[in-house]
Amino acid sequence: MSRYSVWQVLKNGFTGQTGWSRVWRDPEPKPHYDVIVIGGGGHGLATAYYLARNHGIRNVAVIERGWIGGGNVGRNTTIVRSNYMIPGNTEFYEFSVKLWEQLSHELNYNVMFSQRGQLSLFHSPAGRDAAARRANIMRSNGIDAELLTRDQVRSRVPHLDFSDSARFPIHGAVLQRRAGTARHDAVAWGYARAADRLGVDILQNCEVTGFIREAGRLVGVETARGEIRADRIGLAVAGSTSHVARLAGLDNLPIESHKLQAFVSEPLKPLLDMVVAFAGVGGGHGYISQSDKGGMVFGGDLDLYPSYAQRGNLPVVEEVAAMARMLMPCLGRVRLLRHWAGIMDMSMDGSPFICRTPIDELYLNAGWCYGGFKATPASGWCFAHTIANQAPHDLNARFTLDRYAAGLAIDEKGAGPTPKAH
Ligand SMILES: Cc1cc2nc3c(=O)[nH]c(=O)nc-3n(C[C@H](O)[C@H](O)[C@H](O)COP(=O)(O)OP(=O)(O)OC[C@H]3O[C@@H](n4cnc5c(N)ncnc54)[C@H](O)[C@@H]3O)c2cc1C
Repeated sequence: MSRYSVWQVLKNGFTGQTGWSRVWRDPEPKPHYDVIVIGGGGHGLATAYYLARNHGIRNVAVIERGWIGGGNVGRNTTIVRSNYMIPGNTEFYEFSVKLWEQLSHELNYNVMFSQRGQLSLFHSPAGRDAAARRANIMRSNGIDAELLTRDQVRSRVPHLDFSDSARFPIHGAVLQRRAGTARHDAVAWGYARAADRLGVDILQNCEVTGFIREAGRLVGVETARGEIRADRIGLAVAGSTSHVARLAGLDNLPIESHKLQAFVSEPLKPLLDMVVAFAGVGGGHGYISQSDKGGMVFGGDLDLYPSYAQRGNLPVVEEVAAMARMLMPCLGRVRLLRHWAGIMDMSMDGSPFICRTPIDELYLNAGWCYGGFKATPASGWCFAHTIANQAPHDLNARFTLDRYAAGLAIDEKGAGPTPKAH
């Protein structure tokens, strides 16, 4: 399979683009693998890649119900940041940003990671105190964070509403310069291609419909393409976690499935060169960035009732449009081109699970809430480690299923299924 390089681009430019090979193979399932990863989203593909790259486990299959990138990895607003402040999350998400910084080179695939910076606005003196606390915790953990005054924010993003009549007056912001955005499809395709090069089988159109048990052990899965056996099985199915886990006999996971919508406007000339996040006093939150094609990309709260529908409801459309208009009044007449929803597996404390389960052969990667895209590289790295060693990496040691029973919730404010309750 060809490596991407300037030379290849030039050569193919002169030879009618005939020299490119398939980006990943389309193999028939083997009867047995060392490891099966269920779910061909970012996390499943990254896990397979790091199993092969870091642990030399290459007899691996990623089993995907639909097509690579058709789940949340292709439906999110692509914000990558590490502005977390609870032990466990802080070091995990910072490790992820460090992996992002090298990812295009690592995968030989341009994931278009653009460290344009994120501004998290605050709107009151109390908001400043909370923001300063978060920034100080980040800095004491070696993560970049700067507290900006209102004037410093204005000099960076003059189009925000700094008027006296602003609904949420801007008092300042925390800036994380190393935060940014990436191209979501490219992340899925890049990991798929790199995993495939190391021998991983990517099996698309292959829904897992059941699990095979023999002598009390899980020995494989039933799929739309027949039975496939494995020594270890990793579950990385994001919004379908409760459903697929139940097929394996793992009931009552501390997860609720909610939908989250994303919105893209018609393309505009360059207007916003950073990500701007807003958290209102008394609830409500949202964020805006501008894609490389010029569309303004928005997001807000969950639809706030459990559902498996991959489409959102109009009240949230209205709320997010009002948020965008309130933050940047100049967007008032911009037309919305597209909106859609993805299914989020919301954990009860807003933090994920990367762990073994009560079923010996089954490993769980889930509970990513709003924030799993940014976690993709670290999640794959740590899940692969956990499966390969049958024990967690230091970075995911706290992301267990039994942490609630032990009173060890990792309660990252505002990130669980009922943000206002946190
Ligand atoms: C609107 C929206 C905006 C978001 N914005 C951000 C953001 O800005 N930053 C951020 O960090 N995160 C964001 N997220 C969250 C992020 O997208 C998810 O947390 C992350 O993508 C989930 O992991 P994944 O990529 O592996 O999931 P997915 O891509 O959903 O992968 C799971 C895969 O499992 C497959 N599957 C399910 N059931 C089966 C089965 N039975 N058999 C086989 N395969 C199966 C699915 O088809 C799917 O492809 C956002 C999410 C949404 C919906």
